[in-house]
Amino acid sequence: MISYQIIEHGRPLQKVLATTPKPQDTEVLVRVTRAGVCHSDLHIWEGYFDLGGGKRFYVKERGCVPPFTLGHEPLGIVEALGPSVSKVSKGVKVGQKRLVYPWIGCGKCAVCKAGQENYCVSGTRFLGVNRPGAYATHMLVPDPRYLIDVGGVDDSFAATLACSALTAYSAAAKLPPMGAKDEVAVLGCGGLGLVGISVLREKGVKNIVACDVDDGKLAAAMKLGAKRSVNTRAPDAAQQLQGIAGALDFVGAAATAALGIGALRKGGRYVICGLYGGELVHPLPPIAQRAIGIIGSYVGNLQELKEVVALAKKKRLKPLPVETRPAAQASAALEDLKAGRVVGRVVLDFEAVEA
Ligand SMILES: [Zn+2]
Ligand SMILES: [Zn+2]
Repeated sequence: MISYQIIEHGRPLQKVLATTPKPQDTEVLVRVTRAGVCHSDLHIWEGYFDLGGGKRFYVKERGCVPPFTLGHEPLGIVEALGPSVSKVSKGVKVGQKRLVYPWIGCGKCAVCKAGQENYCVSGTRFLGVNRPGAYATHMLVPDPRYLIDVGGVDDSFAATLACSALTAYSAAAKLPPMGAKDEVAVLGCGGLGLVGISVLREKGVKNIVACDVDDGKLAAAMKLGAKRSVNTRAPDAAQQLQGIAGALDFVGAAATAALGIGALRKGGRYVICGLYGGELVHPLPPIAQRAIGIIGSYVGNLQELKEVVALAKKKRLKPLPVETRPAAQASAALEDLKAGRVVGRVVLDFEAVEA
């Protein structure tokens, strides 16, 4: 098998040739055909998250130690089944095209048992985060229950459902019901923000305010159905946003949070899913006086991914701009994403790579 690995954080990924693993127990070996490139891959590549105030969270503390294979938006073909797969699933067969749910928990704790593996408290097995991911021709999936049929959905778009669409879907679900005149801001119109707009439209939210520092991304957001846009570099950005009922912050930077939370109307809710970095400093009394809610959202659970796939199959999610690139451009794709040169999503094509 071939993979593109982090050998040293922040340095270009290296092409590595290795023996293809044999699936054990309930494992399924997937021949990866598409792998989406996500903004959080950048942080793992760099090796840390910025916690603000000079503090950092290093990814090695949660088990991501180079050499490491990124990639948590995997689509591929079932290539081999572990000896116990038939005991847990009758449906999975070699040759099936499947989307892989990557946010896998321990499967044993109360949180996992309640179907919230993405919030597992005792040992996550997130593919591409602390287990080998999809920037490879092959990957092991612990159990066939994490494989989802995406029949009829474009391959590259389907791959992006596993993180970007799922994250947006789960974040939007944390907003309270919106009235006809309520406005919801989407902060950050990269891959996640664009699919976030599509998800909000699908939920019946009509007044979406797209926010970004890049006019090209704002134009893409307007095409996907935003009602108006705010360039957050504008001197009056805070006034333009004032009174929003809800917000999905796909950036998660100190500046976006200060702007968005400050613009919430009383009773508004602010959902943070971006991991850009920094810290939030906010006076306490107004949180109570304004009755605002600030909540985090991290990817989504398996059931939510099934719901997202069902929407995509019914063509009820507008495909965001997706650029499919040869797998060998994995490093270049990360560089472009870092420099803000990507509109929508880059998806790597591993189908053409001879394994
Ligand atoms: Zn992601
Ligand atoms: Zn667990």
